[in-house]
Amino acid sequence: MIKKMTLRELSLSGQKVLMRVDFNVPLKKGQIQDDERLVASLDSIRYVLSKGASVVLMSHLGRPKGKEADLSLAPVAKRLQELLKQEVIMASDCIGPKVAALQGKIILLENLRFYPEEEANDAAFAKQLAALGTCYVDDAFGSAHRAHASTVGVPKLFPRAAAMGFLMEKEIQALTPLLHNPPRPFYAIIGGAKISTKIGVIKNLLPKIDRLFLGGAMAYPFFKAQGIQIGNSLCEEVNIRDLPLDKIVLPSDVVITNKQEVRTISIREGIPPGWQGMDIGPKTVADWKQSLEKGATLFWNGPVGVFEEAAFAKGTNEIASILASCKGQTVVGGGDSLAALKQAGLSSKIGHLSTGGGASLEFLEFGHLPGIDALTIRDSV
Ligand code: ADP
Ligand code: MG
Repeated sequence: MIKKMTLRELSLSGQKVLMRVDFNVPLKKGQIQDDERLVASLDSIRYVLSKGASVVLMSHLGRPKGKEADLSLAPVAKRLQELLKQEVIMASDCIGPKVAALQGKIILLENLRFYPEEEANDAAFAKQLAALGTCYVDDAFGSAHRAHASTVGVPKLFPRAAAMGFLMEKEIQALTPLLHNPPRPFYAIIGGAKISTKIGVIKNLLPKIDRLFLGGAMAYPFFKAQGIQIGNSLCEEVNIRDLPLDKIVLPSDVVITNKQEVRTISIREGIPPGWQGMDIGPKTVADWKQSLEKGATLFWNGPVGVFEEAAFAKGTNEIASILASCKGQTVVGGGDSLAALKQAGLSSKIGHLSTGGGASLEFLEFGHLPGIDALTIRDSV
């Protein structure tokens, strides 16, 4: 287990806590579409306030190029104020003397990514952010795989007082057992579109797991390597030569379309030109179910089909219900996978829902993340 200082171990009375949160909420025309991330941060915020400290919250929102008014965190401050039933002061910037002069129990800094210095982990920028607090808390697991100013530069400036928040702690507690002696059999299901972004985690997970079930567009490079026709299916070029194929389970049938018609075929037939593989087929689901049901640990990332379209959502929904009814430990990570679970109404049936897609995969790949590494080691103070 990673021995990092936790929020409970910080002396908080009279402190000004600089807290990195994940307020990267979906926005449409200034309206928050889903406030789950704000709700998830309330525990850490309330705890800090209850201990007699004030809090300065900081987050990024979207991918602005410079200061884009549309990506201001102002709507978030408003919603957070409603949730906390307490005044939230929205800062007009994230650094500078005006921001430093603000008084209040809860201050929300403006979008960190209005400054390219955030992603560049610029030392002077980190120093200006650090000047806004007397200690640091990171509760943004979803950003911990990025070595940015707010996630790495700032905590390093609080060598004795940089702690993980409750959300971060929960993520690490849920994911760490997958790295060290997980209950067996341990199965992973990986789907999605871009295998290039997941090949690293696939390589690193394979020695640790008993079987890897590959769905979505992940399967096509393997079919191609076997000389199977894949038609117009999405298939990124990746090097799969050194992977232990005996542990990898591929779909035996797939749902294909030529944009007019939908058909289910056995993969051995090959996918004709002009047709694209969109989902795993019913035989695959039935076969996988037999194994997955017996799993003691299941990790799932990435829909096994183009689940956004009802005609190709069946495989993903079936995987969601297999996980939901599995008696073993279940962990699901990834924005789209979580969305699929929610769509199926099964979120509450999963052991751990990881808020960080990229972060959870990288944590499983490397066993640590830059944003966690930057925090104070427990017992070192
Ligand atoms: P997550 O957000 O859970 O990590 P990804 O972002 O990696 O998942 O993958 C989700 C995307 O993969 C979805 O948009 C889905 O439509 C796409 N996808 C799944 N299967 C296929 C397929 N066979 N061909 C093309 N895209 C696919
Ligand atoms: Mg995604």
